[in-house]
Amino acid sequence: MGASRRYRRKVRGGGLYIGLPLPDDAPADLKEGIARRRITVLTGCCPCGATPELDTKTEWGEQWTAWHEPGCPARDDRMSEMLAKWRGDAA
Ligand SMILES: [Zn+2]
Repeated sequence: MGASRRYRRKVRGGGLYIGLPLPDDAPADLKEGIARRRITVLTGCCPCGATPELDTKTEWGEQWTAWHEPGCPARDDRMSEMLAKWRGDAA
């Protein structure tokens, strides 16, 4: 499931937590991927056309899955690659 496009959103005490902050010094593609994930969660649709689907609902929150199109920087495989490269992790 290496190419899955999952993200999580959690609702705690009425607030909505959405993943990563947008780092100023990140590469443009990485910032675009993070921004697209936020857009997907907040508007219900990524600019690539992906829409989130409720995957799992537990007492700690919900896990949603959006299947981004090939080439979309919000895909898990692209985000993982860009994050590892930016942070200097070995591939
Ligand atoms: Zn997308």
